[in-house]
Amino acid sequence: FSNKMIRFEKMEVVSQLAASISHEVRNPLTVVKGFLQLFKMEGLTEEEKKRYIDTALIELDRAEGIISDYLTFAKPTSANIITIDVKQELQRILDMLRPFAYKNSVLIHEHLEDCGVKGNVQNFQQVLLNIVKNAIESMPNGGVLRIQTKKTRHKVIIHIQDTGCGLTNEQRARLGEPYFSTKEKGTGLGLMVSYRIIEAMKGTIEVESQLGTGTTFTITLPVPLCNKVHHVSPTTNKETISS
Ligand code: ADP
Ligand code: MG
Repeated sequence: FSNKMIRFEKMEVVSQLAASISHEVRNPLTVVKGFLQLFKMEGLTEEEKKRYIDTALIELDRAEGIISDYLTFAKPTSANIITIDVKQELQRILDMLRPFAYKNSVLIHEHLEDCGVKGNVQNFQQVLLNIVKNAIESMPNGGVLRIQTKKTRHKVIIHIQDTGCGLTNEQRARLGEPYFSTKEKGTGLGLMVSYRIIEAMKGTIEVESQLGTGTTFTITLPVPLCNKVHHVSPTTNKETISS
């Protein structure tokens, strides 16, 4: 019964996300369409043409950003709930983001324990990507990204800590609110998606931050009842199960 419940809730999150994405992406596409129609008008100056194209490109960037905040790992079969190997998924996300960290002169320190959590692996990867990417983005002039996992009897705890720009209390209170972004090209959707996914996994996200010093995101999730860990091969995507 409980398995079915989780599955059902998960499906709901997936379809809610799908509905939000189509809504979010439609706005920039409508703007691009409008500018392309304007572009067809006769007698436009070169300067006007350039302005229309630039605006259309900005909106396409926005659509791309929205899709990457929601759907970087999406697959048609993504309603699958398994026991996720947290260490492996964190390493995978860190490997993805290493070039970006390097570009920002961000050093990465990892202290990862073996632990598992229950959920949909693509959604979980999306959460890690969004939070770790934000951490790196908060350190444009370099810093240290510290990723730590801990396991207690009932909880798996993931700390994602940066030495970046930090947040005011007002900003911190708005995290997860749709469209709240302090970035020039931000969507303000990455954390909203992450909070929803973690909530569906029966977990919590807590944030501690000090302006100018840094921020720590703490994700807490329940330890699964069954301890079997599914390893998903990064190359073949085949699952193997170990206990
Ligand atoms: P986006 O990254 O597109 O702005 P997010 O939902 O990912 O949207 O994040 C919302 C806002 O939360 C960011 O614009 C930023 O102001 C703040 N934020 C998130 N993570 C951090 C962090 N690690 N350090 C400082 N600010 C952060
Ligand atoms: Mg973000």
